Amino acid sequence: MTDYRAYSYWLETAGDDLAPRPPLPHSLAVDVAILGAGYTGLWTAYYLQEANPDLTIAIIEREVAGFGASGRNGGWATPTFAVGPAGIARRFGPEAARSLQSALYGALDELAAVLAREGIDADLVRGGKLRIARGLHQLPAIRQAYREYQQVGLGDHHRLLDSAELAERIRVDGALGALWTPDCAVVHPGKLVRGLARAVERRGATIYEQTEVTDVVPGATPRLVTPAGDVQARTVVLAGEAYLSRLRLLHRQLIPVHSLIVLTEPLSDAQWEAIGWSGRECLASTRLSVDYLSRTRDGRILFGGRGAPYHLGSQLSDGQDRHAPTHAMLRRMATEWFPQLRDVAFTHAWGGPVGVSRDWMPTVAYDRGSGIASARAYAGQGVVVSNLAGRILRDLIVQQDSPLTRLPMVGHRSPDWEPEPLRWLGVRYVQRGLLRTDARAERRQRPPSGRTLAERMGAH
Ligand SMILES: Cc1cc2nc3c(=O)[nH]c(=O)nc-3n(C[C@H](O)[C@H](O)[C@H](O)COP(=O)(O)OP(=O)(O)OC[C@H]3O[C@@H](n4cnc5c(N)ncnc54)[C@H](O)[C@@H]3O)c2cc1C
Repeated sequence: MTDYRAYSYWLETAGDDLAPRPPLPHSLAVDVAILGAGYTGLWTAYYLQEANPDLTIAIIEREVAGFGASGRNGGWATPTFAVGPAGIARRFGPEAARSLQSALYGALDELAAVLAREGIDADLVRGGKLRIARGLHQLPAIRQAYREYQQVGLGDHHRLLDSAELAERIRVDGALGALWTPDCAVVHPGKLVRGLARAVERRGATIYEQTEVTDVVPGATPRLVTPAGDVQARTVVLAGEAYLSRLRLLHRQLIPVHSLIVLTEPLSDAQWEAIGWSGRECLASTRLSVDYLSRTRDGRILFGGRGAPYHLGSQLSDGQDRHAPTHAMLRRMATEWFPQLRDVAFTHAWGGPVGVSRDWMPTVAYDRGSGIASARAYAGQGVVVSNLAGRILRDLIVQQDSPLTRLPMVGHRSPDWEPEPLRWLGVRYVQRGLLRTDARAERRQRPPSGRTLAERMGAH
């Protein structure tokens, strides 16, 4: 039997029995059938139950609840999109950017409130976020980000810190300053997803695990098709994020990109004394190829980043979660941030897929004609966004017009990704190009020009 604890430190330490729930025994008819027991599927179930406790809800999960990105992520509960407020303002107008941002701030509050209400202890600490300039080449990016927040009226949620102010919070090698915001929390992703699963079960939903949805049939009574039978419903919700790229229906709407993580052993009090970081802020630099860090409750450093190659045809396999060269790169990067870590053991390494659309925008949509709803393509920022998506899907499904249903990702259709092998060529070119651009910027201590082909192709 699969040992799901091996998929991440979070699943290992969620404090929940990971023995699979029974699979779907035979065909069923319910009000709402949900593909996927990650945050999106579970939040959607949770809010639908709140709106109408009599709804019958079946959640169909190929592995176990939390198997996907929800049980493996970096633990940043950040009220942000991959497309920042300035990008949203350019594409959808300044008012849309402000409404979206205020909904995202609200979603972080809501997430914390539900945890308290449902008695889910997911170690949530609202420590804020620091985007750190590690070297002269990264200073312009944090200043630019600050200007953009000011332009859309969010300047008061952010503050630029100089190196001395930053060092009062945390000592990072080569750090020259940071952009600080209080609007971010760190959370135990495994406790969150497993706690949510228990909460929706308490309210009457059934989660069928070890059951793969092999097809989706839209129509007046849409269906999820599985080897054990069909789940027929009034509404079908596709909440499989990166894995949705496996479905014919959405194959070119998003691609799986792997995010990988390494984790240290618990640091000693003396090591923490040298580093600081008592506020447990979420940390990142301004690297184009992405890095993210968090401090766990038991005193470990989590260091995440990208680099595992995209596979032709959006293939997804366990091996991609364990790409050894990327894990080695992340361990090296962690010791560059904190030279003290040279003598510290890295005890865990894992990863998982994030769904990325062609325009980097998430989609939250419900097509009443086909009976199919979906929320997807969070591009690695789904911990808070999935809560918002769950409430939007509730409003769309119960036909309740609300400010949430007018947000820019609602009903959004991203352009399709290119057919293969063009998609593979382009994505790999951008992946390699951004790593090279970061290395060059660091070597020369000059910011990336923004003009290389990889930067322009990967811009969002
Ligand atoms: C390594 C990593 C680090 C990340 N760090 C952060 C972070 O710090 N902050 C942040 O906000 N976001 C982060 N993310 C992204 C975030 O975790 C995701 O956006 C979020 O968890 C998506 O939730 P979801 O429920 O939509 O998808 P998932 O959690 O992926 O759940 C989808 C579920 O659907 C199931 N499924 C898929 N296909 C089928 C099928 N055919 N039949 C049945 N079941 C199926 C899967 O088994 C899975 O359990 C990270 C992601 C990864 C991988």
